[in-house]
Amino acid sequence: MAAAPRYKRILLKLSGEALQGAQGYGVDAEVLRTIAEEVKDVVALGVEVALVIGGGNIFRGLSAAASGMDRASADYMGMLATVMNSLALQDALEQRGVYTRVMSAIEMKEVAEPYIRRRATRHLEKGRVVIFAAGTGNPYFTTDTAAALRAMEVHADVLMKATKVDGVYDKDPHKHKDAVRYARLTYLDVLARGLNVMDSTAISLCKENSLPILVFNMLGRDNIRRVVCGEELGTLVCA
Ligand code: UDP
Repeated sequence: MAAAPRYKRILLKLSGEALQGAQGYGVDAEVLRTIAEEVKDVVALGVEVALVIGGGNIFRGLSAAASGMDRASADYMGMLATVMNSLALQDALEQRGVYTRVMSAIEMKEVAEPYIRRRATRHLEKGRVVIFAAGTGNPYFTTDTAAALRAMEVHADVLMKATKVDGVYDKDPHKHKDAVRYARLTYLDVLARGLNVMDSTAISLCKENSLPILVFNMLGRDNIRRVVCGEELGTLVCA
């Protein structure tokens, strides 16, 4: 018998880079398919799923600002990039029969619903996957912070941060063979040691509101479902 889910409502944060696959830019159709199928499997377990996708595969505000662009303008471009990724994932999910809603923090009613917290909660209750697009709607923030914020607003049980490594290590596991993975960390460990989990604004927000963060590797087949069902694959960050 398949394991029962540990969480009733999750917020899954995917980086934009996760969508680009090996091509190094944009959205890789194969990666999109895999993610959509894995999300579909989790929805089939009765778990309510909210998603936040980054935009780093298309545009990063900070990099553009470093080359001389006004930071706020660059960040708005970054937020628009997350809308493109959100629409791509919505399409992939709906092609697999998963009902979804994209809710944008920047109003663009022709392509997405405006973000309204109560409406988002209602969609989740009805079993629709809600994709939160355009980050927080504010420059100088990241989609990690948007993920923490939305997770709290819709009372998700956990913020699942999908990465390319299977958790948080004491040093870069790609460079050091003796790198050790932490099974569990406190928010303070992450902040004090400057561990690469999410930016400090996002971590602080989770800490102040006791929202657990699960960092796991999304590249393993079926990992999203396995983590949702309680397998200890990555690193849990909590109080
Ligand atoms: N961004 C922003 N405010 C937000 C979320 C995102 O200004 O609330 C911009 C910012 O420029 C960022 C870009 O959108 O660089 C893409 O998001 P992010 O870098 O977090 O994506 P990821 O690294 O997860 O792909």
